[in-house]
Amino acid sequence: MADMPSPRLAADEFQRRLLAWFDRYGRHDLPWQSPRSAYRVWVSEIMLQQTQVATVIPYFERFMARFPTLESLANAPQDEVLHLWTGLGYYARARNLHKAAQVAEAEHGGELPCESVDALMMLPGIGRSTAGAIIAQSTGQRAAILDGNVKRSLTRLHAVPGWPGKPAVEHTLWTLADYYTPSTRLADYTQAIMDFGATLCKRSKPDCPSCPFNDVCLAYAQGEPQRYPESKPKKALPTRQTIMLMLRDLEGRVWLEQRPPSGLWGGLWGLPQFDTHSELNDWLEANVINPERLSRPPSFYHTFSHFRLEITPQPVSCDRLGGVRESGVWYDINHPPALGLAAPVKALLSQLAPFTLDPTPGHA
Ligand code: SF4
Repeated sequence: MADMPSPRLAADEFQRRLLAWFDRYGRHDLPWQSPRSAYRVWVSEIMLQQTQVATVIPYFERFMARFPTLESLANAPQDEVLHLWTGLGYYARARNLHKAAQVAEAEHGGELPCESVDALMMLPGIGRSTAGAIIAQSTGQRAAILDGNVKRSLTRLHAVPGWPGKPAVEHTLWTLADYYTPSTRLADYTQAIMDFGATLCKRSKPDCPSCPFNDVCLAYAQGEPQRYPESKPKKALPTRQTIMLMLRDLEGRVWLEQRPPSGLWGGLWGLPQFDTHSELNDWLEANVINPERLSRPPSFYHTFSHFRLEITPQPVSCDRLGGVRESGVWYDINHPPALGLAAPVKALLSQLAPFTLDPTPGHA
């Protein structure tokens, strides 16, 4: 137990409290609980990944009506399997289920290899927790599970820091899950620990006052159980820089250009952009009559999914453009035309009057 935080309860006391809660409040009439077979538990477990029980039930019943045995599933055309999955999403689950049924049919005499977690994990789409759930619920052999609900409950009970997707944190949680798993009433215990997380120790609103573990739960004692488990750490986004030219003519209109049809802000209208001030100077020299730089408002950030853009606005006044530029328009902020504008450009235009009318030159 070197990698495990101190258990909050002795395993037998944990099991006693959980099962007493389950006997009273757990789910006892789920369609895969009777009759309970490895095949039916397996199908339910795969359907329940990323999907709630209430959604799964009608899908499970239709699936079992059409494929009552592993053999019938193995021999079905994939289209039919996918058809019965339509609406459940994550279709790789259905494809793997079908493939695994064919492997079990061909290599294991039409049965799931429930002799061990490792043997089940050889089949497509079956991970360690799903294998444990199938074995515990259909054979009564001792096997731990660690689905999202169990991770959440154990993380809170022990105030386990870190994101559970990190191998070290996951390892700690598996050690705890294994420690608390009993040797008897395996099917009930497995359903109980799943139900506990799904219906009581819920993601956003755990019902701590009704919880049989609230006297020992560290997250509850700390006062903010929802802080656990920690979220996946966000990667720091790279930052790119751009200079946006806010060019105004003698009438106060602003020069906008249309962005290329694809890419960032594709097809929208924006301010001319430059990577460097010297590129901006070259452009002004080539295109603008009598440009005069005005004082610069502060830079700001616009965040995209994969990077942050640091935008430096550069106001410039001018008499007019020197050449004909067909890709742009003079935008009258008093009578704005109906153009699609990139969000930061819209924000900049809405702030124009206070600073661009103050011709303070020489702040390049
Ligand atoms: S006390 Fe609250 S946070 Fe702790 S295990 Fe119970 S329901 Fe979850």
